[in-house]
Amino acid sequence: MLKGTGVSDGIGIGRVLVIEEHSLEYTPKAITDKKAETERFNDAVKIFCKNTEKQADSLRISAGEKEAEIMLGHISIVKDPYLTGEVEKLINDGQCAESAFENICDMFISIFSSTDDELTKQRAADVRDVKTGILKILLGIDDIDISEAPKGTVLAAKELTPSMAAGINKENIVGIITETGGTTSHSAILARVLEIPAVMSIPDLLKLVQNGNTVIVDGSSGEVLESPDNAQLERYTEKQEQLLRERRELENFRGKVTVSADGERYELVCNIGKPEDAAKALEFDGEGVGLFRTEFLFMDKTSLPSEDEQFREYKKAALILKGKPLIIRTLDIGGDKEIPYMGLKKEDNPFMGFRAIRYCLKNREIFKTQLRAILRASSFGNISIMFPLITCIEELREGTALIEEIKSELRTEGTEFDENIRVGIMVETASAAVIADILAKEADFFSIGTNDLTGYTMSCDRGNSDVSYLYSVLQPSVLRMIKRIIECARENNIPVGMCGEAAADPMMIPLLISFGLTEFSVSAPSVLKVRKCISGWTKQKADEAAKKVMSLDTRQSVYDYLKTVI
Ligand code: PEP
Ligand code: MG
Repeated sequence: MLKGTGVSDGIGIGRVLVIEEHSLEYTPKAITDKKAETERFNDAVKIFCKNTEKQADSLRISAGEKEAEIMLGHISIVKDPYLTGEVEKLINDGQCAESAFENICDMFISIFSSTDDELTKQRAADVRDVKTGILKILLGIDDIDISEAPKGTVLAAKELTPSMAAGINKENIVGIITETGGTTSHSAILARVLEIPAVMSIPDLLKLVQNGNTVIVDGSSGEVLESPDNAQLERYTEKQEQLLRERRELENFRGKVTVSADGERYELVCNIGKPEDAAKALEFDGEGVGLFRTEFLFMDKTSLPSEDEQFREYKKAALILKGKPLIIRTLDIGGDKEIPYMGLKKEDNPFMGFRAIRYCLKNREIFKTQLRAILRASSFGNISIMFPLITCIEELREGTALIEEIKSELRTEGTEFDENIRVGIMVETASAAVIADILAKEADFFSIGTNDLTGYTMSCDRGNSDVSYLYSVLQPSVLRMIKRIIECARENNIPVGMCGEAAADPMMIPLLISFGLTEFSVSAPSVLKVRKCISGWTKQKADEAAKKVMSLDTRQSVYDYLKTVI
């Protein structure tokens, strides 16, 4: 079995078609007739633009306007006056069209690839694609025409370039496997749009697969099975049919509002770890972001991100969301999240220790830097601030006071920010749940973090297998905590969401509807599933289920009962 990164869900079963890489090697020639060579280059550009327009047209039909735009972007690259001017200069210096064009493209590729910004990095991939396209024309190399691939084809390539992808006919291509590329590459996005199962970043793929062999592509797990036996084929065909049925049904919920069977409206948003994931949230039809875990911005680095760096990241997410809600949680480190350069001391009991808001309030410069960055970004979207691991009202007060101090600094500087930014808290400790009535008087909103709340309520560590039998959100104590938190929020007229994993659990959804939750924040791929689940419950039915559940005295009996009603 081959293992890579699953970038487009689903099961594809078919025969491999290996897309060979043509050698683009050539011997650079010294040019004497510079005019003729410039003309040869200009002709290649014309052919490239004509081919690209054709590919964009077919993409417009198969995948949509946005994907066609990506292809048309290649024309803007090749027609960029600076780029063509520099190529012509090199031809005038005596270089052949191939080497002049390659040299200039390589210069752009190295500039674009050296940045940290994903979108700029993607520009490098686009220039590489354009370079290959023009060189092939200059060298007279013909591409395999993917649009001619027979039904049931699994494409195998080193890299699936956007121009190759443009030839894909989704009736015939049942899977895509590549050696390079990740979740955010254009080809991965395209595979998702076309709903073709795809696995990328499979090491040495082209050495391991053979033209014509049958393979199973599992785009969800990132696995590829070569020459499967009958039992495997049967198992995966069944899985494929089941997935297709579910997907067809779920698609009916795309673009719809999230409402219960009796018309009650809910907010269905996503949990993200990087600004780019905001685009994923929208792609999966999320209505915004209910939890941006900012610690990932700190974990991916070797030193603290500056205020400007953080500002750019928060602003990026806000702009992607175009006014849809974005709840940014301040740094939640410690516990199981370690950041080596921050020099956290080893603790005997890290989950009870110096973490999250506790660390931030004692390291005010770090906290202030982050809050300034968030406040500055707040003028670019609909941002709220959320503090993690609150256990007492003083922490909320201290955090809010710091925000007020920063706001007044920003006013003096003349820096714009959202004056009415909302400041809410994660309710994820037993203490916060018990004093939810006190906290609800000063917090603008609650978001229930069931991942931690379950652990703190049951006094058990979710990573310790010896006590994992206790770790369940269906424990009567945890359910009472959740019910209480929601009731306190409602009594004080503040919104109450849930961003722990339980928000997407079909067993929990009727209980949350009954208790009065207003917002569900889930991982992007769960959005449609949760919307469908919510649509199946009326308040009355949910109340009946909740009443019964709250009368039960063990996790097992709660589980057994809920199994019968979902
Ligand atoms: C939680 O505790 O439920 C939560 C959402 O926070 P995290 O999983 O990041 O600790
Ligand atoms: Mg937590």
